[in-house]
Amino acid sequence: MKTSRTSLLTAAGLLVLGAAAAFLAGRSFLSMRAAEAIHPAPGLTRQALLSDYFPALAGTPGDTDVYVFEGPEAGGTVLVTGGAHPNEPAGFIAAVVLVENLRALRGRVVVIPRANASGFTCNDPQEANPQRFTVPSRSGPRQFRLGSRLSNPVHQWPDPTLYENPAGQMLSASEVRNLNRCYPGRPRGYLTERTAFGIMEVIRRERVDLGIDLHESAPEYPVINAIVFHDDSAELAALAQMSLQDEGLDFRLEASPQNLRGLSHREWGDAAGIKALLIETPNPVQGRLKGRTTAALVVEGKDKAYLKAARLGRLFVPYDEKGIPLEERVARHLAAISAILRSQAEVDPAKAVEVEGLPGRAGILEDGLGPFLR
Ligand SMILES: [Zn+2]
Repeated sequence: MKTSRTSLLTAAGLLVLGAAAAFLAGRSFLSMRAAEAIHPAPGLTRQALLSDYFPALAGTPGDTDVYVFEGPEAGGTVLVTGGAHPNEPAGFIAAVVLVENLRALRGRVVVIPRANASGFTCNDPQEANPQRFTVPSRSGPRQFRLGSRLSNPVHQWPDPTLYENPAGQMLSASEVRNLNRCYPGRPRGYLTERTAFGIMEVIRRERVDLGIDLHESAPEYPVINAIVFHDDSAELAALAQMSLQDEGLDFRLEASPQNLRGLSHREWGDAAGIKALLIETPNPVQGRLKGRTTAALVVEGKDKAYLKAARLGRLFVPYDEKGIPLEERVARHLAAISAILRSQAEVDPAKAVEVEGLPGRAGILEDGLGPFLR
């Protein structure tokens, strides 16, 4: 009798402990649904939601902010997307810096900083990644979410056994939640396919001429510090690469493979007929060779394991004790965008886009990101 009472008490105790752990974990999981504020520059001319372009996304976790900067002079329209992969912080933060600093002088710039909003509401399973990282701003530290490469499985579940994407390519199951495999989207498909369709609607309705998709990849992955270009954007990419080389920035040129379907640099070009480029910078939080992932690693990019890998010749980027900090990667993205806009003005003057307020690389490397975040 005594034994059964003891085991009853133990069971009740364990249940309470379990419920407390579930409550705390659940609260922490749900906290990632609160989006960080973005404070647009005075040059912003219009703010919209993706659902304004594709109403079926209204009220869904795929809906996201769209910022439009229109200049007084006519020109082309460029779309910049960050956060297609929310675990690649430099692409996201570069898009935030654009929104918070830009003014258009000629043509229009459309920015979507959190292209896969659902992916920002969770982080990658089994990676022990921090949920957030802190970046200085003009008025003190600001927190941003480090999300997942894929849409939140709570928003889109279950994954099919095999995934045939809208461009007809067979992929492994979880790629159904990878925005950069779901183009050109399906209006009545999975959430991630509907998000991709919404972005295609932005391209069509805003009459976008050129799309730039901001990404990062692991330092041990060969497509890195690269400009990936659609066949129709080869000249534009080559000019931009030469211009970046003049600034002392090395970028590889990678042609978008014609048989790799569903990616922005392929389908934006094929399905919408626009020029399409994708920028990659090195992200020490993303690879397999990294050590422990901390919020400091996200921002400072210093990792002993990568240092060792670099010494063994296993990385595709230079890597030393200074690491590859977030600000350097954001500066690379912004330098690439500037170079692409200059090249676009050369290749197609009628579709030129001119902007001001974009922080230069030297300024960011000297003062950090703080002065450029509101
Ligand atoms: Zn990516």
